[in-house]
Amino acid sequence: MKPSLDKLHKFFKLEAERGYDNRAVMGGLERVLDNWEAEARSDNLSEELIQSIRSQLRDYSRLDENARAEVLTRIWDRVQENSSSSLPTLPTPSKEEKTDSTPAKPAEPTPSKIDLPPHLHEPQHQPQVQIDKSETASTVETEVPAALNAPTTVLPNIGPRHAQTLSRLGMHTLRDMMYYFPRKYLDYTQLKPINRLWYGEEVTVIGTVQNITSRPRRGRPSQIAEAVISDGTGALRVTWFNPWLAKRLQTGAHISLSGKIDQYLGRLVMVNPEWETLEQQQLSTNRIVPMYSLTAQITQRWLRRLMDQVITYWSPRIPDHIPEKIRQNADLLDLPTALQQIHFPENWDLLKAARHRLAFDEIFLLQLGVLRQKHMWQERTARAFEVEDNWLATQIAGLPFPLTEAQQRAVNDLRTDLASGIPMNRLLQGDVGSGKTVVAALAISIVTHLSAQAALMSPTSILAGQHYKSMMSLLAGVNGQATQPEGGYPIRPEAIRLMIGATPEAEKREIREGLAEGSIKLVIGTHALLEDPVTFSNLQLAIVDEQHRFGVEQRATLRSKGENPHLLVMTATPIPRSLALTVYGDLELSVIDEMPPGRQSVHTYVLTPQERERAYHLISSQIEAGRQVFVIYPLVEESEQSESKAAVDEHARLQNEIFPNLKLGLLHGRLHPDEKEDVMSRFHSGEFQILVSTSVVEVGVDVPNATVMLIEGANRFGLAQLHQFRGRVGRGGDQAYCLLIPDTPDAAENERLQAMTETDDGFVLAERDLEQRGPGEFLGTRQSGYSELQLANLTDIYLIEKARRQAQVVFEDDPGLQQPAHQLLAAAMESFWSGGKGDIS
Ligand code: ADP
Ligand code: MG
Repeated sequence: MKPSLDKLHKFFKLEAERGYDNRAVMGGLERVLDNWEAEARSDNLSEELIQSIRSQLRDYSRLDENARAEVLTRIWDRVQENSSSSLPTLPTPSKEEKTDSTPAKPAEPTPSKIDLPPHLHEPQHQPQVQIDKSETASTVETEVPAALNAPTTVLPNIGPRHAQTLSRLGMHTLRDMMYYFPRKYLDYTQLKPINRLWYGEEVTVIGTVQNITSRPRRGRPSQIAEAVISDGTGALRVTWFNPWLAKRLQTGAHISLSGKIDQYLGRLVMVNPEWETLEQQQLSTNRIVPMYSLTAQITQRWLRRLMDQVITYWSPRIPDHIPEKIRQNADLLDLPTALQQIHFPENWDLLKAARHRLAFDEIFLLQLGVLRQKHMWQERTARAFEVEDNWLATQIAGLPFPLTEAQQRAVNDLRTDLASGIPMNRLLQGDVGSGKTVVAALAISIVTHLSAQAALMSPTSILAGQHYKSMMSLLAGVNGQATQPEGGYPIRPEAIRLMIGATPEAEKREIREGLAEGSIKLVIGTHALLEDPVTFSNLQLAIVDEQHRFGVEQRATLRSKGENPHLLVMTATPIPRSLALTVYGDLELSVIDEMPPGRQSVHTYVLTPQERERAYHLISSQIEAGRQVFVIYPLVEESEQSESKAAVDEHARLQNEIFPNLKLGLLHGRLHPDEKEDVMSRFHSGEFQILVSTSVVEVGVDVPNATVMLIEGANRFGLAQLHQFRGRVGRGGDQAYCLLIPDTPDAAENERLQAMTETDDGFVLAERDLEQRGPGEFLGTRQSGYSELQLANLTDIYLIEKARRQAQVVFEDDPGLQQPAHQLLAAAMESFWSGGKGDIS
């Protein structure tokens, strides 16, 4: 057998064995064709055969299992007819398919079953817009009709079985149905006479059934319906792989057909088009047709009819939670029209406007929640910490380096917040290495200078340890190059303590006592700080580093250890502006957008797996020059065990086979904190030349002598995260290198990685991440509310700013949302935010 045919047979056979689920090939059977065509041509298959296969498979994904079985069988018949040698056959469709295709059990409920009872009929073709306007103008509704929360079983012909199917799709109530938006739309608006049709176009044809018959497919148990439709300009042959239609559709019926124009043996035909009689309201043909996500047991046609019932009857009755004034300001459709148009758009412009309105709703509710959160902070009072200009200037002068302007600005922001009498709630954002630590140190010095306590929490013990060292040096003059400020160091070394999981229990007890009585001024630690027995005598400043690693609850717990303490969260993840306004919209923002002087940019290369040798070569030469190297492995599965295994295995391989004369350290999440600490300090001291690690090192390892960062499986990381890794090298003034090796030769992936070679700007990379991978990486644990976003795109800065402006208007006027006109809004906001837990309180 020719290789191309052999391949086709394999796919078809597999597909048949899988029950025609279109999963035999990744991305669907249609995807096969791109490569297959070339092969087929080199096998000398006739062009006619190739084209026929192509056109028949084109809509494969849209067919049901029966129709798929038919198509594949038909194609294979054709292939066999055209082949000189004998070919294997395909498995016959399984028993299920056969029973399914018998008329006794139609694949979808018959239209008569879902016909509307009279009371649910709206006057047809009345533009919804007008109905709504008159209704909303005359009555200001303050309550959502309870009926919207009724289960779907209140609909005629929806019994428990269908209700269950619908709820599998998330539709439990009538409201859910209205908010179950189409996944896409088909453009069947182009209406054409039969004599003007072109092969390949998607059109609607309106005509009369000339004749219709069912007939078997040569020697196969299944049948098809075949009809000739004419419209006065010509006749068109139409087939459906549903023989039962031959009984449903009578000769002489006027019907509307929508679908793709195909060809068969040189003549234009339609295969399995959507159809409706002209007496029916047209939902599936001759319009922009909604396509919903489906599950087994229901069809598009059935769901469209049901949706039409619900939308037509209920959308005019749904009161609009967005006040009229805001709708006008923001130029938005009213809610009933938007719901109507998103399901059954009259034209593309209205669809766009509907989507815009409904996306606005999502962001608007998000913004209201975020502003409420912010507002709640601002209503509290906090202790005001005011320091003399002189005093602060001496502290800064004592630092081992002058502050950059960006650092200076951040310090000013913090100083103002701390003096304001309102609890600070600020996000300090700055790229890796931009110098956030020293800014935090100055805030700590202000608070401790005025004899209150501060706590600094880090996600890992390694990072906590490093912060401890920095703070000891900056604030107490221990082992640092800082010169003592005139009035002395702000804190005595004994008043700074480190508390991590590995801290011995006796020492923990001692720290707890010191914190409770107030002799300890600054505690640095991990989650260990959150433990119950830890209490403070006077905690006034809580700082959380790499905040996305912590949950909202954890931050709240730390905060609750003082009375409205000032809160500073720090992140090295550059946050795109759109997210700063939404996900982090309740926080004030300070950005350190400038690197300390003398930083060189890290030379970055994307290597193919075959080029790994080059990477090893560079590593060797850097180590010969006395430098050190990181090698990172990704978290392959969400299990620490397998993550560690990759690193363990690779560590052994590198040590034994590639660099037998060097000393390689190994760091992964399964090590005991003591062991981690030990490995880190041995790498820091230069005992290990290479540190093999999982993504544990992502945050906060400061080894200035390291100049190479090799990242294996780089495709598994977001750009922002890769940028974080890269920030770990090049801290010592020597030229540094970042080498990215993806574990697949996937071109698109590697294209994405190229961005790393093109820019050093964490913001640019973060924006790309957001576009390409969505907001997941930025959300961290801030999930609630965000799961409600169906339409809104968190990168849509235009929409976000618009919604924020409007939310501010509402808020300034009525912060508690207590006015009658805002009742619906308040309710909508509650239900929007109750999807998740915690973030908003
Ligand atoms: P990050 O923002 O990633 O936490 P760090 O605070 O750890 O950055 O600072 C990175 C390095 O830059 C540290 O070694 C720090 O001492 C140094 N550094 C910070 N600010 C300056 C500055 N203004 N001038 C020179 N070096 C600085
Ligand atoms: Mg840091």
